[in-house]
Amino acid sequence: MNFADLKSPPPSPLILLNDQQWDNRGVRLYIKRDDLLAPLPNDPFCGNKWRKLQYNLIHAKEEGYKTLLTFGGAYSNHLAAVASAGNHLGLATIGMVRGEEVNNPTLALARKNGMELHFVDRTTYRTKNEPAYLRQLEDRFGRVYILPEGGTNSAAYSGCAALAKEVIAQCPEQPTHLAVACGTGGTLTGLLSGLPEDTPPQVMGISALKGNFMTGEVEQQLTALGLNRTNWEIHSNFHHGGYARQNQELMNFIQSFYQQHDILLEPVYTGKLFYALYALLSQGYFPAGSRVVGVHTGGMQSFGCNI
Ligand SMILES: *Cc1c(COP(=O)(O)O)cnc(C)c1O
Repeated sequence: MNFADLKSPPPSPLILLNDQQWDNRGVRLYIKRDDLLAPLPNDPFCGNKWRKLQYNLIHAKEEGYKTLLTFGGAYSNHLAAVASAGNHLGLATIGMVRGEEVNNPTLALARKNGMELHFVDRTTYRTKNEPAYLRQLEDRFGRVYILPEGGTNSAAYSGCAALAKEVIAQCPEQPTHLAVACGTGGTLTGLLSGLPEDTPPQVMGISALKGNFMTGEVEQQLTALGLNRTNWEIHSNFHHGGYARQNQELMNFIQSFYQQHDILLEPVYTGKLFYALYALLSQGYFPAGSRVVGVHTGGMQSFGCNI
């Protein structure tokens, strides 16, 4: 991948799902295949990680940075995505990993893509957004472009706003609902910021985490952006046990969805999103005539064990 592709990538496909369950209810389900927005098949630099990094990478390149530095847990899709992005664009990458030294497929992949990993104890890790700690990192590593954990920053919102505009331009009819899986909620906030203010779709966030804090997170992010939006809601009852937890019901759904539609979902985010959409459909949540767009945010880097 080169810089020109980063600035104006071809749009990822938007497909209409052919599925009797949706036909029976008179509801159409479109899928925005951002999992296919990748320099290589199955690359971790795809989906919403691509969207969130896009303008950060353009900025880093234009400002002459040679190194990206970021933070994440040992199973972070974001870490793996930054490593791959750096590899494709000729930038060195440093990953500050929370907790004691471990090895797993995510970190192995990040290393393979040239990322230098440093393990940080949990107490220090908690200070990762504090200016004093960031200055320390610059003293240690030199001039580095710092990306926050999960990659959520203002440039990331811009990338997700562009995704919202792409969906609206591509969809052959006006969507009534736009649904996405939530980790930090940054993708959802960015989508909201990019939608038209007159007759926007209802934006549904399916939380991949246990607990009811996601609504507050998104409210804070919208306030920070100076945005007042009411066309959104968080569904907190589809976490299947919590972050990166899974159960047989979820795994069965992912398998049958793959068999029926040849589209791979993973159990951390996108599996929970589409499981939720089918569950809500069967509860009669979507009125007949609804046009739902589910965003496939990717995350396929290590099927079965990613975050
Ligand atoms: C990271 C990730 C998310 C969560 O995105 P947020 O912006 O943190 O809410 C959703 N889906 C996939 C596949 C991811 O990797």
